[in-house]
Amino acid sequence: MARKLFIPGPIDVREDVLEKMATPMIGHRSKEISALQERISKKLQKIFYTENEILLSTSSGSGLMEGAIRSCTSKKAAVFSCGAFGDRWYKMAVTNNVKADLYNVDLGKAITPELVDKVLSTGEYDLIAIQHNETSTGITNPIEKIADVVRKYDDIVFCVDAVSSAGGIKIEVDKNNIDILITSTQKALGLPPGMAICTFSERAIKRAEKVEFRGTYFDLLAMYKYLKKKNYQYPSTPSISHMFAMDYQLDNILEEGLENRFNRHKDMANLVRAWAENHFKLFTDKNYLSNTLTVIENNQNINISELNSKLIEKGMQIANGYGDLKDKTFRISHMGDYNIEDIKYLLDTIDEILGF
Ligand SMILES: *Cc1c(COP(=O)(O)O)cnc(C)c1O
Repeated sequence: MARKLFIPGPIDVREDVLEKMATPMIGHRSKEISALQERISKKLQKIFYTENEILLSTSSGSGLMEGAIRSCTSKKAAVFSCGAFGDRWYKMAVTNNVKADLYNVDLGKAITPELVDKVLSTGEYDLIAIQHNETSTGITNPIEKIADVVRKYDDIVFCVDAVSSAGGIKIEVDKNNIDILITSTQKALGLPPGMAICTFSERAIKRAEKVEFRGTYFDLLAMYKYLKKKNYQYPSTPSISHMFAMDYQLDNILEEGLENRFNRHKDMANLVRAWAENHFKLFTDKNYLSNTLTVIENNQNINISELNSKLIEKGMQIANGYGDLKDKTFRISHMGDYNIEDIKYLLDTIDEILGF
């Protein structure tokens, strides 16, 4: 029996989507691959509400996070962090010799527009990096209000990690002037792990042109230029299997309807939150709760590994807390193609195991 993964990625992939991974190969310099990429790009532009170009990277999302901060920081990057993935972005800057400063908030709290304003008002920075949805703490940052702040400043490349939210929570790239929005296949889009996606704006292109050492494999400008020149192809061989599955799954997403999809995520989140408040406590600031995963404070001191072993016997799995939050919190993800019934079944099973 396939296990249902209520972990924040990878999540279950529908059988019919998985089957598309087994489509016979086509050449990476063929007319068919150009058409395939063009179709994918058009669909992703709808899902991300953008007219900017779409880039696919054969890597997980982290590859594009590293590529974005390295390719597009000229002066200095301001990296905002409300958890593990924000910290990771800062580390990527440092290890690539990209000048950057880290601005942290307490775990479970959101990045505020006021903090972003204060940092940008120093005039020291020309790129900001921020999570839309921080998967270690269950925070969805107020990205629209932050966008209003970023807009006040000239020439800031606005990079947003939406790895665990894009496709599950609405993010309007163009309306919010997001220059680079990054996501991975294995989270809210409901695809197998192995590819990453980003949007790439005119401002990001102009900036990258001024950056000398952009690396090679994750040089976003090189990817973009090649794609433009060679009719939607890439400098190196992409994961064509993922592209087949993506082309198909994006149709499923658009057929469901974006608003319906976002509302389904909201409904699943509401159910898990109510359950969590009934038996435990929410770890996350209630004003910024994520619709794609819930982080629950383990105030009952349950043995999370033991709970998970019992869940696994029944064909399900949840996630322990991330990093320092291990055993102090646990996480239930509700993203991708799950529905309310799946979530009810999971929560009922947990109730049964814990004797609630
Ligand atoms: C999962 C995740 C990442 C890392 O993505 P990979 O595809 O595993 O590289 C980055 N940021 C956030 C918010 C995530 O949830």
